Amino acid sequence: MSARILDGKALAAKIRQRVAEGVQDFVRQVGDRPGLGVVLVGEDPASAVYVRNKEKSALETGMHSEILRLPAEAGRGEVLDAIGRMAEDPRFHGILVQLPLPDHLDEEEIQQAVPPEKDVDGFHPVSAGKLLLGQKGGFVPCTPKGILALLDEAEAPLEGAEVVIVGRSNIVGKPASLLLLARHATVTICHSRTRDLEEVCSRADVLVASVGRPGLIRGRHIKPGAVVIDVGINRVTDRARAEDLLAGQPRRWQRFEKKGQTLVGDVHFGEAMERASALTPVPGGVGPLTVAMLLDNTLEGARRAAGIGG
Ligand code: NDP
Repeated sequence: MSARILDGKALAAKIRQRVAEGVQDFVRQVGDRPGLGVVLVGEDPASAVYVRNKEKSALETGMHSEILRLPAEAGRGEVLDAIGRMAEDPRFHGILVQLPLPDHLDEEEIQQAVPPEKDVDGFHPVSAGKLLLGQKGGFVPCTPKGILALLDEAEAPLEGAEVVIVGRSNIVGKPASLLLLARHATVTICHSRTRDLEEVCSRADVLVASVGRPGLIRGRHIKPGAVVIDVGINRVTDRARAEDLLAGQPRRWQRFEKKGQTLVGDVHFGEAMERASALTPVPGGVGPLTVAMLLDNTLEGARRAAGIGG
């Protein structure tokens, strides 16, 4: 068997296009653009790339977007004030705080300063509570929302299906489990204390890995014909590790030999290709959906604020 590749880039492009059309409608109806504000504290190079990417993607859909950059040494009060100003600014319908924050800042406190009605990341306790209770009006975190979109695109039957999620983070594993439960799947969540990971995973019709361990999920964890969603993004520089994880992917191996590094998921791609019916690649799977869903949430927030959306 050779799994079908679930192309996250193509699906994300479709969603961004749909958002761009929604933005045009919004402008026609309201006379103003939806807006996304991004707060970046410090100079972490990876975060700088992520926020530029988010701003660029938002601008491409026709939204307003701004990055508020604060120095790494900005104090608690300065950051909270900056978020407070954005929260009051009607040009911003969505606000996100790029993580990680410098060590001296309390991530939980800073993130919760974003009011729930602008919490397009869906990390606020109010959003999380609404998701848990199945109530409308909150925001669904972007990565789990993207996972569902990929599963729907793959036409994976969810009702009654055995779904196993490896990883119980607040931003991926837990919210993904709630979304899948709401779709009537039988959901099992695994974590570092799960006794027999292989046995549990190999029951899954749909297997979602969000762990942060390169290639943890091998072929033997995968039930033949399962749909596999690989959320992990891991940089690998060790040659022997890369040789194992890139087995059967000669072009990627060549690139590793040139650059000395590669990005892989939590699933061993070559082995999964032999067992799964459908599989997301890394990169190009879940990642692009996360940004697309951030834009989708921002448009949703703008529509709600204008009283034209659920
Ligand atoms: P966290 O680091 O917050 O959590 C990891 C989870 O994996 C924990 O629940 C942990 O268990 C579990 N775990 C760790 N080791 C094992 C093991 N050996 N067996 C079973 N479970 C294990 O993860 P995130 O969800 O934030 O991120 C996971 C990965 O997804 C990362 O690679 C990250 O970069 C990527 N990511 C990708 C995104 C995208 O857009 N594609 C978005 C967000 C994350 P325990 O709770 O017991 O510690």
